[in-house]
Amino acid sequence: MAPTWHANITEIDLEKGTVKETLIANIRERLGNLYEPESYFRIVSQQFENLGFFKGNTIAGALTCRDELCYTLTESIKQYWGNPFILSGLAGIPVCGKSALKAMISHAPTNGDVERYVFFVFSHIGYDGGKEEGACIRPGRKEMSSACGALIQFLEMLKSGNFDLIPDPLDWELSYLKLRLLRELPFGRLPTLWELTQIVVSVSVNDLLRQLSEIVDREKVHYAIASAIHIHTSQGDFILPKYHFAHIEGRRVTLKI
Ligand SMILES: [Zn+2]
Repeated sequence: MAPTWHANITEIDLEKGTVKETLIANIRERLGNLYEPESYFRIVSQQFENLGFFKGNTIAGALTCRDELCYTLTESIKQYWGNPFILSGLAGIPVCGKSALKAMISHAPTNGDVERYVFFVFSHIGYDGGKEEGACIRPGRKEMSSACGALIQFLEMLKSGNFDLIPDPLDWELSYLKLRLLRELPFGRLPTLWELTQIVVSVSVNDLLRQLSEIVDREKVHYAIASAIHIHTSQGDFILPKYHFAHIEGRRVTLKI
């Protein structure tokens, strides 16, 4: 069952801590362990290094939404791993396909015993304190904004029943997103935005692995995946970890983040 998302900052007892501290505790209570981005990337990168992935022997792939709010993730990846290969698309779905992935792995350093890749996979959602899933503050805009816009648009289409599945060559990424996510919806009901945000992470990790299987012998390379949900709040951004694992010499290692 999906976790309840509607925390309400107005209900928070400010006597017990700062708004930020209480908001973090509030989200943690509902959704699980939560990190500030800086801590998340430091911890994940350290664990990847413990498995033999280093800046000098590894290429990083960044798969996030195109939203400029997500750019801080790319910057963090760059800090630990150098310039990442951009695999991003609307909502963080890997619409770039096998050709882009093939290009990325052909750029991997060859100064080690094997080729090594790390992938950082994120979906994202705004959180304003509970009024509405998806609401967020966007620098330079007076009114409340929203994220992820592509998922909100998809959800609105589902709600309206006005759903065109014919691919639009002028809107290819959204066309693909609709076709791909339709296969993953819960049976017999509309998902919440929060559920969709979680579904995107699973879809992206699975599709990335399927694409990788078709272009490289996964037994002969080392790769690691970090996946999470990027949450935009009035108190800053947070990271909710999802799946973290590595494949080394044909062996899967699950990381505890
Ligand atoms: Zn987005």
